[in-house]
Amino acid sequence: MNSDRVCQRKTVVRQRSGEGIRLQLFKWSGRVLRSWISVLVFVLSVWAPLPVLAQQAVEAGDVSKPILLLIGIDGLKWDIIDRHPAPALSSLAQEGVRVSSLVPVMPSKTFPNFYAIATGLYPENNGVLDNATFDASLDTTFRMSTQDDPRWFEGEPIWITAEKQGIRAATMFWVGSAAEIGGRRPTYWHPFDGSVPNAARVQQVLDWLDLPLSERPQFISVYFEAIDSASHNSGVDSSEEREAVIAVDAAVAALLDGLETRGLTASSNILVVGDHGMVDLAEEQTIFLDDYVDFSALYSPQLSGERQGNVVYAAFHGDETAVDEMYSVIKNAHPRMSVYRKGAFPDWMRLSHPQRGPDLVLVPDNGWMVSKRGIPYRGPRATHGFSPLEPDMHAAMFARGPAFRQRAVVETLEVVDIYNIMTRVLGIQASKHDGNPERIELVLSSGAD
Ligand SMILES: [Zn+2]
Repeated sequence: MNSDRVCQRKTVVRQRSGEGIRLQLFKWSGRVLRSWISVLVFVLSVWAPLPVLAQQAVEAGDVSKPILLLIGIDGLKWDIIDRHPAPALSSLAQEGVRVSSLVPVMPSKTFPNFYAIATGLYPENNGVLDNATFDASLDTTFRMSTQDDPRWFEGEPIWITAEKQGIRAATMFWVGSAAEIGGRRPTYWHPFDGSVPNAARVQQVLDWLDLPLSERPQFISVYFEAIDSASHNSGVDSSEEREAVIAVDAAVAALLDGLETRGLTASSNILVVGDHGMVDLAEEQTIFLDDYVDFSALYSPQLSGERQGNVVYAAFHGDETAVDEMYSVIKNAHPRMSVYRKGAFPDWMRLSHPQRGPDLVLVPDNGWMVSKRGIPYRGPRATHGFSPLEPDMHAAMFARGPAFRQRAVVETLEVVDIYNIMTRVLGIQASKHDGNPERIELVLSSGAD
């Protein structure tokens, strides 16, 4: 049914282009009546440009292919639309596909997950191992403030895959989209600026949709961080979180209205993705590492720089002897903390990047923190970054449009599956990725691809 609508729309666009040709022929045929010279001009001009006009009509049809709008909502926990009023998101979930549990990559932080969504790759294959990522060979720590550094972002994000195959891409913010990757960027993009209001982000998307067909992007991403910020500052289920959900839902509603007023609803595929869940913290659930071990011989990007403590995931880098010493002391130090040594990481961690993989990883239990004595506790009230096996860390995903199933609930999907979904929706060849092609069949309508 939906794919029929797409076909009809394509036909309509092509017919309109055909009318253009006929109108032009009619105008020229008026000149024919005036003189034989005009007849000669008519013959020469019509027979020569006709194939060119036909070609233009085909191209116009091609660029009117269904738009894929990727909406990234930071901190969109799996159950958040059941706890707060979110009419626009709920309508997408009900009419299209709702993924009950979108499983993040480790650590369940923002940068690793939004970049895993974009590339379909686990951190060990795309180089973004945390919001702060240390590269031993470059002796550099990439941080969120250096997100335009192309050395950080490996693999091929969806906007590059699209652009390489002739599909125009536009990003109203996405992790990695401010860096030139493989010498390319999206056709349209903006460096991240958290001060840009949601309404301006929405307006930019709508302005892109209003471009002439030959310039209009077919892939568009947009990002909203308000829910994540509110949950961090005020806690899960706080009134501030509720207000943020209402505000972000209103932004999504404005996007949907914008598609509707442009006659694009039936032919657009909308994919809403979260990056992780959220859980409340308590100051008394803090593990002070220096009570057990002196780790000054090792480097931890999470426990240095601006963030000195109160972390929910700590990676350590250093020489083998120092790592061995720390591991032997810390491995059974606290019942609420798991310690993993390089070479013995569980399969699901996927942190074995050759230059960036940590030598030792500390993972406190859900809701616990790792810190150092003397570092003041300044919150947050709630956070994420814990094991992706914890349901509290799971995110939500909603998808609606001709490429997606209708009124379907899919229990589990991983964030690395999303890249492959997007390439299928856009009808392009996927680059190497870690997604599971069988799993995504549950999301896609039989007509997709
Ligand atoms: Zn996030």
